Amino acid sequence: MADNYRERVCNGYDHLLTIDERLYEARTDHQHLLIFKNRSFGRVLALDGVIQTTEADEFIYHEMMVHVPVLAHGDVRRVLIIGGGDGAMLREVLRHRTIQQVIQVEIDQSVIDLCRQYLPNHSKGAFEDSRAHIVIDDGLHFLQQTHERFDVILTDSTDPDGPAEKLFSRPYYAACKACLAPGGVLVTQNGVAFLQLDEVRSSARHFEALFQDWHFFTAAVPTYAGGIMAFGWASDNPELRQQDVKTLEQRFSQSGIASRYYTPDIHRSAFALPQYILDAIGKTSP
Ligand code: SAM
Repeated sequence: MADNYRERVCNGYDHLLTIDERLYEARTDHQHLLIFKNRSFGRVLALDGVIQTTEADEFIYHEMMVHVPVLAHGDVRRVLIIGGGDGAMLREVLRHRTIQQVIQVEIDQSVIDLCRQYLPNHSKGAFEDSRAHIVIDDGLHFLQQTHERFDVILTDSTDPDGPAEKLFSRPYYAACKACLAPGGVLVTQNGVAFLQLDEVRSSARHFEALFQDWHFFTAAVPTYAGGIMAFGWASDNPELRQQDVKTLEQRFSQSGIASRYYTPDIHRSAFALPQYILDAIGKTSP
């Protein structure tokens, strides 16, 4: 009888995957970590009982969270990743030839070490790239003491309980704004909108108070149970979000990147939000 991984998504709703092979389990200095194999989704990473990423569908999340801001901006040189311990966000960012430096601030060294060993297809050597600089620290602490500036900041964190709670706070978003280069953009992992609408509302309130232009875009990632995933978008450059498909097509073609999910049309349409999200964030029209 196969072992099962059961995740409490919300009251009365569990998400269950068979554990066909348990690869590694430990309590790190910051969280409980489990890596296992599942017959449908390949290798799976769970932290504190929440699925973080799977080999089968990680491309959707990482392509959208990276290519949407990078191609909207058009000349990204320096990127900051907060979290992202599995290395796939770093991998996707480094595919862009314009990138000169990526600083990744991950609180838990064990996540990086164990994902390099047990989820090698996520980072695919990204941690060894000379443009990558890994810092083991809390993301907010790093932002509050760095003098670096970034064209794109990506919050690829766990959900707002445990070590990532502060990464959804006003001080955090203010610190991100202070570390954005002129014309830069912050993109955040902002939860599964239907079930975590309060997180979207909360981020929207902070974005509204801090940034000239903000919104959300979405993508459905099968193993993030409960429907479409919301990505927060916050910038003081309103033009970024309005990039036309023609410009995005030119930039995407020049990037030479072969994607499995991202297309310029998907990019544009991802910012079209369902009415219940528009209502929740106080925007009657996009
Ligand atoms: N793709 C996943 C998702 O959407 O939920 C996130 C992937 S990644 C594994 C999340 C990372 O955030 C973890 O490695 C965790 O250690 C890191 N993290 C959590 N809180 C953090 C903090 N305050 N500063 C830096 N990294 C943090």
